[in-house]
Amino acid sequence: MAKVLIIGCGGVASVAIRKCCMNSDVFGEIVVASRTKSKCDELAAKLNGTTETKISTAQVDADDFDALVALIGKVKPDLVMNIALPYQDLTIMDACLACGVDYMDTANYEPENLDDPVWKARYDKRCKELGFTALFDYSWQWDYKGKFENAGLTALLGSGFDPGVTQVFCAYAQKHLFDAIETIDILDCNGGDHGYPFATNFNPEINLREVSAPGSYWEDGKWVEIPPMSIKRRYDFDGVGEKDMYLLHHEEIESLAKNIKGVKRIRFFMTFGQSYLTHMKCLENVGMLSTSPVMYEGREIVPIQFLKALLPDPASLGPRTKGKTNIGCIFTGIKDGKKKTAYIYNVCDHQECYKEVESQAISYTTGVPAMIGAKMILTGKWAKDGVFTCEEFDPDPYMDELNKNGLPWQIEENPDLVE
Ligand code: NDP
Repeated sequence: MAKVLIIGCGGVASVAIRKCCMNSDVFGEIVVASRTKSKCDELAAKLNGTTETKISTAQVDADDFDALVALIGKVKPDLVMNIALPYQDLTIMDACLACGVDYMDTANYEPENLDDPVWKARYDKRCKELGFTALFDYSWQWDYKGKFENAGLTALLGSGFDPGVTQVFCAYAQKHLFDAIETIDILDCNGGDHGYPFATNFNPEINLREVSAPGSYWEDGKWVEIPPMSIKRRYDFDGVGEKDMYLLHHEEIESLAKNIKGVKRIRFFMTFGQSYLTHMKCLENVGMLSTSPVMYEGREIVPIQFLKALLPDPASLGPRTKGKTNIGCIFTGIKDGKKKTAYIYNVCDHQECYKEVESQAISYTTGVPAMIGAKMILTGKWAKDGVFTCEEFDPDPYMDELNKNGLPWQIEENPDLVE
């Protein structure tokens, strides 16, 4: 049985930890370490005695390489699961390399400090050469490929739902449904209602940074960038009904464009209600989404961090959120010389998630795949040295685990396509 160190104890990590405890044949022992140890202690106290998995806790600042190395050295885990924030990805990868331990996360690297000159220089070059301006990209973590290969270690990037399961769906479509995939539309629909005029379903800072940025998609071998929220479509989602959705940039487009050979177009759409968009625009217009510090009454504050303190904690939305999510991928392509279309998706019910793990479906649909990604590495089903995204492995064992762990998927042939 394996021992894992889980870093972070927020909305997503709490679900992943509970799901690890439901798979105690693999997860024999868990150490939960985060910035605020009391949150880890609270969860451990709830779970200890209800599971065969042994749980203990620790305090760590995951921005501090030395502190991480000391903790990993003490815990000696088989795997580090990074479910803190994307800001910590590189430091935790460095610490895993220093200690000779496998690594995984749920979101690709982006810097907390957008004024960092090293990051800014690479960012400016990429914006100019590749033409997409998202704050995150895979280049920082792909740079670790050689180091993980040489160390004989695995790093699995982005094992949440999107990124994560959406790429596993692509690998499945490639393996079983198509000879050639021509287009992929990733559709992320949240039909849930939490009753607040405005709240985000996961970390507000990361969420609002992503959603307020220009959208982009991959077409004919290059990026096409568009102003934020300027491509809107309407789609009738199974289990949810008709919703407006908007084209966003999303990290898995970057890796899928590399790994799904011959794909001509990849787009990502997310549903938003009008109230969310109006609030976000207003907050943006008054400067509340800014990441640059401002002086207020003699001290520096970062507007988006202050906003985070005012908004409901995503972890508290669980009991109030009703409705369903529907996330999946629509494919067009060729099979046996004929044109073919297919839609692979999961429908997840917020209230059912809450009953099972005291969390809403956004944390659930991310936390379950985080556990499954870890399980793939720990059981040797996904065993390769280097740095990989989810579509680079055999999708079958992961797809089986989705069905067993609360995220069953279905395939619709001839679905409605997105214009
Ligand atoms: P939360 O803000 O709820 O939780 C983050 C956790 O990380 C908190 O426990 C926080 O501690 C801890 N943390 C933050 N900074 C540090 C640090 N320096 N050292 C140690 N611990 C730290 O975020 P979520 O649970 O909503 O999101 C977790 C991750 O999942 C994010 O990377 C997010 O981008 C990703 N995600 C991925 C999705 C996908 O589908 N792939 C979808 C949704 C989220 P503290 O309590 O002290 O704040």
